[in-house]
Amino acid sequence: MFDHLRIQVVQPCRARCTWCATHLKNPLFAQLNTMGVADLIHDFYVEAIRYFRPREVFISGGEPLLHPRFGALLTAIKDHTERIHIFTSYQWSVEEREAMPLAQMPLSKIVFNHTPIYFDPTRWDALTGECFPFSVYLDNIRYFGQLEARKRFKFIINHEDCVEELRRFHQMVEPDKRFQLSLKVLNDQGDGLGREQMKRTATLIHQRARELDDIAQQAGWGKVGRKMGSIDQMSPLLESGDVSRCGYRQRAIELRFALDRKARNGRPVLRYRYCPYFPPRSGHRFHIGRDELSRIEHNYRKGSYRKDCHACRFLAYCTSEARTRETKDVG
Ligand code: SF4
Ligand code: SF4
Repeated sequence: MFDHLRIQVVQPCRARCTWCATHLKNPLFAQLNTMGVADLIHDFYVEAIRYFRPREVFISGGEPLLHPRFGALLTAIKDHTERIHIFTSYQWSVEEREAMPLAQMPLSKIVFNHTPIYFDPTRWDALTGECFPFSVYLDNIRYFGQLEARKRFKFIINHEDCVEELRRFHQMVEPDKRFQLSLKVLNDQGDGLGREQMKRTATLIHQRARELDDIAQQAGWGKVGRKMGSIDQMSPLLESGDVSRCGYRQRAIELRFALDRKARNGRPVLRYRYCPYFPPRSGHRFHIGRDELSRIEHNYRKGSYRKDCHACRFLAYCTSEARTRETKDVG
């Protein structure tokens, strides 16, 4: 039913990126692994993927590549989807890299995804909590660059250094045809951490959205395919501010699961949503071991989730003061 299904592997990441709130869940993730609850969640993900048979599966974390049974999870789902996207931080040691089950992975189906933030060695320590030196991060990217799997790098366009960042990456990594470039609006993680920044940079986003191919060309990415990113997909909403033009409301593009903070009677509880931009508190709860998967289809068709579209995080670009001013000036 859904084109995309997104799951969150319960495994702490090794980084402390300043823009991210996910690493705050690291102690919880570690505890759930110790208790065996993480296995129940991962088994449920396999069941959901076999049930919905999405064209593409997106796997985030924490850091999924560090989970000791991640290879088994991939083996269990690989015949039930066409493409598997794995989100990784490229922040792990050489020893951890060598322990990864790369030989077990269906690499021809896999795309490793990553969003660099500035890709700037001089700002790296301040941005990542000094967890790993930039040289280790770069070495990991180059190492994965040699793998058969595709590597997609999603760059954020709402800052002035965007073109320079793309150019720097191109020079340092020398991407070949197994690399893909994607442009996105913002890495808006946590409880709307990036909302104010989104509003401040709305005018720049509207301008950049009209020149995405130029940005890639200017930075030397001409020969490497630019993949459609969120900014392309969401342009009807970006331009109009009209939620009825949002693709996520028009058809079942995405189902995404994440760990809910609450558990009931020792059973894990997940939260699911039908698009990436709902406000943090929205969505439905799913109690593993109690609820039926058919309930998820029922709730999608019922459509009550649309009541939260007024607080769409993406829509923040269309309604910001900067955007309103720009429209008035033009008018
Ligand atoms: S952005 Fe990713 S790698 Fe960085 S702290 Fe968050 S979860 Fe970890
Ligand atoms: S919250 Fe935004 S992106 Fe999500 S369905 Fe509503 S309008 Fe679309």
